Amino acid sequence: MTKGEVITLKDGRLKVPDKPIIPFIEGDGIGPDIWKATKRVIDTAVEKAYMGQKQIKWMEVLAGEKAYRERGEWLPEETLEAIKKYRVAIKGPLTTPVGGGFRSLNVAIRQKLDLYACIRPIKWIPGVPAPVTHPEKLDIVIFRENMEDVYAGYEWAAGSPEALKIIGFFKKELDVTLSDDSGIGLKPISKRGSERIIKKAVEYAIKHNRKRVTIVHKGNIMKYTEGAFMNWGMDMVKQDYGERFVSEKELYEKYNGKIPEDRILINDRIADNMLQQILLRSDEYDVIVTSNLNGDYLSDAAAAQVGGLGVAPGGNIGDNIAVFEATHGSAPKYAGMDKANPSSLILSGALMLEYLEWHEASSLIRNALEATVKQKIVTYDLARQMEGSTEVKTSQFADAVINNYESFVMHI
Ligand code: NAD
Repeated sequence: MTKGEVITLKDGRLKVPDKPIIPFIEGDGIGPDIWKATKRVIDTAVEKAYMGQKQIKWMEVLAGEKAYRERGEWLPEETLEAIKKYRVAIKGPLTTPVGGGFRSLNVAIRQKLDLYACIRPIKWIPGVPAPVTHPEKLDIVIFRENMEDVYAGYEWAAGSPEALKIIGFFKKELDVTLSDDSGIGLKPISKRGSERIIKKAVEYAIKHNRKRVTIVHKGNIMKYTEGAFMNWGMDMVKQDYGERFVSEKELYEKYNGKIPEDRILINDRIADNMLQQILLRSDEYDVIVTSNLNGDYLSDAAAAQVGGLGVAPGGNIGDNIAVFEATHGSAPKYAGMDKANPSSLILSGALMLEYLEWHEASSLIRNALEATVKQKIVTYDLARQMEGSTEVKTSQFADAVINNYESFVMHI
């Protein structure tokens, strides 16, 4: 058997060999079932798209319950080291250990590897039941900042010595009076953190021919965190990309509201308004970039709008390092039943292939999965909402996706 190779860096870009070693974490609960299905779907797509010339050499790394059972640790250092070394990884959902010393293993992985951009493409899969009349109008990619904001992990319980000390400091040094029974949390948002996530979104828009980038923030209230996020971003875009971007003001003053062919619109929206905008003016948004908490709400709301909370893919990306993952949890009550929907992890796999620039295999998966849903072959979660559907198991859904490859492979 041919050995795999390490993905390296050349001129600041990933250099992907034909047989890259890619670490995977199968995950807890439904993780092993959906991972097994996903792995088959990815491997067969790569095989069909490149006729054996390319192949992923999978390498299992441990995290979560399996790591605890086998190593006595929830997140072994060697897992983080392997992801750092091999640069691209994929994971199933992990159950948050109760009393395990982690707020969330997923958050810990993102923080420790500096995976500062959470990327969620949100697009309707035709046939998936959606709560709105025109789910097809929404086709966005959300970039959520992953490291800062109220998720940074600095929180102290009401009445704790730390909270009381901070309250004392505010009163003495800044003349700010807070009630002694307050819990305290920090909301740090830095210039560097804001600029790098907004740059990621901007670069994505340029690379994928998207026409709009919208910075979402709550700067009308939180001026020096949320407002600064937007201002730093706008300044950076002006300075680093100049004429490539056009502001909303310029768009109406100079271009009659129509984005010129060779330019991209950069605008901003207040977070609460944005939740209305995606519903009422879905097709006016394209790439959205936002701070951590806003991004959390917005990505779930947008995914629900297209009926896809359980099927939406996701990736956590840093500088030349990325971990792709299902966006749902480990659904422990369906563990080991071959019942859960593997679509979110499968589509995260397609996203990973796109990141590797293996576009042919990535589109093959997406097209075949869409065709499968169109044929109304779905797992229980969608079957119960789709009239005339055929309910299949996790593994059978993977078979159906693979069976559909033949109709698309000739178009590659
Ligand atoms: P969950 O996503 O596991 O489940 C919510 C609901 O959706 C449940 O009814 C579940 O049965 C259903 N569901 C989820 N995924 C499904 C799938 N693929 N197919 C069919 N139905 C599916 O959320 P939860 O119950 O809040 O969390 C369970 C555990 O997962 C917790 O320990 C939580 O911390 C963890 N979690 C992990 C991640 C992650 O790994 N990124 C994300 C969210 C939650």
